[in-house]
Order: sequence, then structure tokens, then C-alpha cells
Amino acid sequence: MRKKNSKDLNRLSRISLIFTILLVVLIGVVLITSFFKKNVKYETFETFSLGTYVQLRISTKSNATIIAREIFQELNRITKKFDPYNPESIIYKLNNSNGWLEVDDETFAVVDLSLQYAKITNGSFDPTLGRLVKLWGFDKFAEKENKTFKVPARVEIDKVLKKCGYEKVEMDYKNRRIKTNGVWLDLGGIVKGYALERAYQIAKEADQECTGFIEAGGDIRILGPKFGRDYWIIGIRNPRGSDSIDYIYLKSGAVATSGDYERFFVVNGKRYHHILDISTGYPATSAISATVIADDAIKADAFSTAAFVLGKNKWLYTRTIMPKNNADVFLVTDELKYLKTDGFVYYENTY
Ligand code: ADP
Ligand code: MG
Repeated sequence: MRKKNSKDLNRLSRISLIFTILLVVLIGVVLITSFFKKNVKYETFETFSLGTYVQLRISTKSNATIIAREIFQELNRITKKFDPYNPESIIYKLNNSNGWLEVDDETFAVVDLSLQYAKITNGSFDPTLGRLVKLWGFDKFAEKENKTFKVPARVEIDKVLKKCGYEKVEMDYKNRRIKTNGVWLDLGGIVKGYALERAYQIAKEADQECTGFIEAGGDIRILGPKFGRDYWIIGIRNPRGSDSIDYIYLKSGAVATSGDYERFFVVNGKRYHHILDISTGYPATSAISATVIADDAIKADAFSTAAFVLGKNKWLYTRTIMPKNNADVFLVTDELKYLKTDGFVYYENTY
């Protein structure tokens, strides 16, 4: 009887010892995670670059201020370098070149990539519309805010269209040279994406584990999940209001929106905006906004412009080629109807 009692007591104290240890471990884990949770702090930096408002939200064990400064410098460098209206810029030089022009690695790569997107999208994204953009008055739009815009005459449009078209540009892969053959490059539909991708690289070089996002005029590049584990919730703007018409959840990748509501003028009640369709020479008309989610910001930017131009009329083409290239699309048509690629729903939920 006594023997049994002491055995029971032993077992009891062993069990309570195990419980105490477990409790201590549990409290420890809770304390440690809450400590680290508190340490995941986000810092926000803002600037005006790429012709738009830029916001960086970053959490890093490295120095966030230094990263922000480096990124903003890079955005300003890219803005200048790819501005077709700055006589110092390489794009200006290309647009005013006769014959072959040797360029630096970066220029060659960005122009080449933009031409590839033109090919994939069958010219709905076309980086050689510089002359058409100027004819419509969308060059240096912000500076012209008070000027009166007019719709160009058909003959003028047709004349300019003869000097547009991505097939006209020749690339010399051996000598890193470009021959524009009279077209004017305008990389406005891809440069924001390129700049966001550079920002991502700079942040990751400084701290592989940094998280957050960078946004430039509605285009977003995710640096990493919120607090290292949660989704960032991104609203898709109502193109005819200031509310959101949908929400997407992202932990990585990029999203870009092209719309007819950013840069436009109105003549006789008709809206003329800055995204032009080379097949007509006019602003594209069968969509009012196109949002693209992709693995990188360059693709999202180029595809959002392309999806906008393809619009409702060529939706079948969009929903065929874009998912094949790992991109999903949400289109708002001119009749305010929503069209989505099959994979888009994946981003409308958390898993
Ligand atoms: P935003 O810059 O307003 O976000 P986009 O990314 O769609 O919009 O880029 C629009 C800019 O791209 C225009 O301002 C012009 O410089 C240029 N662009 C206009 N039409 C086209 C087109 N069809 N393909 C490529 N670039 C275009
Ligand atoms: Mg774009």
C-alpha cells in the first residue's frame, strides 16, 4: 500500500514538472514572438519622382533611411535618363539619331525588353509611339495643364503613324547598337515598372529579408509580406470614383493599373486620354481601366497598358496571352463591366 502511494506521488510530481516546463516554454515562445512582432516596424518615405507621387514602406534590420535615399536617387536617375524630351537623355539622342547608335547596357536591355512586350502583345503595347504622343499633346502633360488641347486632324495622325511601329526598330546584339529608322521611342508605358524593379533590387541588396512595398502613381512592387507573413491588401480604384471596386491580397510580385482618368482632356463632352492605340491613332476606347498582377513590375506595367488598349473588343486575346505569361488581369470595360482572367480570383482571397 505505502509503496504504491509513493509511486503515485512520483508520477504526479513528474507530470506536474513536465507541465511546468511546458508552461514556461509556452510563455517564453509567446514573449519572444510578441517581442519580435513589436520589432517589425514600418517606416514610410515619400517623394515625387517618375512624374508622380512615390511612397516606400519598408521594414528592415538595415538602415531604412539610407535605402530610401538610394532608391529615390535611382528613380530620379531613371526619370532623367528615359525622358524623351530631355535633350541630355539617351532616348532623346536615339530619337534624333540617323542610322545606328551605340548605347549603354541598361538602355539596350530596357529598349529590347520593351520591344519584346510589343511583340507579345501584338503592338497593343508599343514603345515607338513618341510622335503620336506628341501630336496628341501628351508629352510634358503636367506643364500643359492650362493649355487648350485639340483633337489632331486625321491627315496629321496618318502622317505620324507612318513613323510609328515597333517592327521598324533594329537591334544589333553584337555591337549593342540601336537603329530607330525614324520612330520616336516613348518608354512611358514601361519606365515606371522598370524603376520599381530597380527599387526592389536595391532594397534586397541592402537587406535580403526586408519587407514592405514601393508604390509609384498606383503601380506597386511588393518587397515582402507584411510583418514577414501577412498579405498586403491593395484596393483597385474605381475609375469613375474615388472608392475601391475590388481588393487584392499580395505577398510578393507587382501590380499596375492603366486608366483613362489620369491624363486626359475633354472636347465636346468626349474624353481623350494618354493611352493610344496604334491601330487607330486615337486613344483606346473599349476599356477605362486595366489592372495587371504579375511576378515583376515591368511586366505588370507593360501588360496593363496593353490590356487597356486591347480592351473589351480584344479581351479574348488578353485572356489568352497574359496568363500564359504569368499575369492576371482585371479589366473595367467602357460599359463599366468587369472582366477577369481565370487566375485573378486567386488574388481576391486569402489562403
Ligand atoms: P501611367 O503612366 O499613367 O500609369 P501607362 O503605364 O499605361 O500609364 O503608360 C502610359 C504612357 O505610355 C503614356 O503617357 C505614353 O507615354 C505611353 N503610351 C501611350 N500609349 C501607349 C501604348 N499603346 N503602348 C506603349 N506606351 C504607350
Ligand atoms: Mg503601363
